[in-house]
Amino acid sequence: MSTPPRLRFAPSPTGYLHVGGARTALFNWLYARKTGGKFLLRIEDTDRARSTDESTRAIFDGLIWLGLDWDEEVTFQGANVERHQRDAHHLLESGAAYRDFTTAEELDRLRQDAESRGEQFRFDRRMAELSPAELQARLNRGDPYTIRFRVPDGVTGWDDLVHGPIAFPNKDLDDFIILRSDGTPIYNLAVVSDDIAMAITLVMRGDDHISNTPKQILLYQALGAALPTFAHLPMILGGDGKKLSKRHGATAVGDYGTLGILPDAMCNFLALLGWSPGGDREVMTRAELIEYFSAEGLLKKASVFDTKKLEWMNGQHLAQSPIGSLDAYLRPFLERAGLTTPEALAQRRDWWLRLLELLRVRARTVNELVDQCRPYFLDDFAYDADAVAKQWKDRFATADLLQAVRDRLAGGAWEAGAMEESLRALGESRGIGVGKIFQPMRVALTGVAATPGIFDVLLAIGRDRSLARLDAAVAHLTASTG
Ligand code: GLU
Repeated sequence: MSTPPRLRFAPSPTGYLHVGGARTALFNWLYARKTGGKFLLRIEDTDRARSTDESTRAIFDGLIWLGLDWDEEVTFQGANVERHQRDAHHLLESGAAYRDFTTAEELDRLRQDAESRGEQFRFDRRMAELSPAELQARLNRGDPYTIRFRVPDGVTGWDDLVHGPIAFPNKDLDDFIILRSDGTPIYNLAVVSDDIAMAITLVMRGDDHISNTPKQILLYQALGAALPTFAHLPMILGGDGKKLSKRHGATAVGDYGTLGILPDAMCNFLALLGWSPGGDREVMTRAELIEYFSAEGLLKKASVFDTKKLEWMNGQHLAQSPIGSLDAYLRPFLERAGLTTPEALAQRRDWWLRLLELLRVRARTVNELVDQCRPYFLDDFAYDADAVAKQWKDRFATADLLQAVRDRLAGGAWEAGAMEESLRALGESRGIGVGKIFQPMRVALTGVAATPGIFDVLLAIGRDRSLARLDAAVAHLTASTG
């Protein structure tokens, strides 16, 4: 039996966990969970100037919100600089790399010269060729140097899990720096050194890294390490076909939580950006994502981040999630909106769960759902202007109708069957359909015209409150001079 795969997500902590990073993390996680492998987290904080603890925290928070748990201890790349340096020096000793004493000024000048000739600058290894005596003299003087990798002749390729065979002629790769003159490692070296140390077997990342991969493969070979498999995930585009960026609105995954998206819906949506389970299967629980995930379903083509689809999918998850987990997720939102307290909710738990069942099929986001909950918790809701314009057209006739409704309901049993019978009789006596009664009632009871079934609404709000709201509506309609 082959050993279980080891994957990693390796973000640089220079900002929030953005949608692209979250998608990469999710695919690595799904692959690991599917195969019984490990999903590791490595914070690539070698760029001290740009890395912040706040960003590291934001990445943890984003992953935790998405429910992407990682295995083993988090690796901080910055803690491994000594190993990176050792690896660079090992390459130096084996002849796979060399010291380059060219100063930054000289490099600038050479670059400018090339530009003025209309050529692309290429580092010429011969510039760095020193006799052993000169090398020793420079070392003795303490001249600063970078370490460059000596790119061998040939072609470097791999069989990408997403794109199939990819190959780069080595002559297109400059002898690249692996260690700066201040001893800090360059990205490609640090990544390879860490991936070897972490025994990573599958490197899955965005396809913006494809051009790094041949360099990394050469480093693996020169370090005598086994190559991992590579998978480069396609780009995510905004609705305008351009690479997804801040211009397209929220790109930090955590922002979607604030906008009322459920983590399971977000994972489901992100999973379909660059992967397809086949058929027309779209709405999937976390367990189903793991069940259906496979490398064969990874797509080459860029995918489009469609906010409308995300909201639709969120609505599907709101409607289908286990009620208990939805309840747990919603509570803080209800409390923050000032609708209730944990104690008050505990006292009418059955009532609340019934209400949640009624409303969850009618909202696309958690925030919409919380808004819809308002009139069931509090009396201080407003009458929606559109609903009033449409359902309360004739003020005095509406007031008269609502008064009649109120009187009938007050005189009968507070039970759906009895209420329906009595309101149908009212409709008949006035020669109007029940819709003409129920719609104005909805506005009186909840402020809006789109609600669950009217009897469910009456029962959820309760007898005294419902009657008081009908009274208030009548008072409002007869008092307003418009
Ligand atoms: N730290 C790199 C980034 O944030 C990823 C490195 C990798 O996955 O190899 O893009």
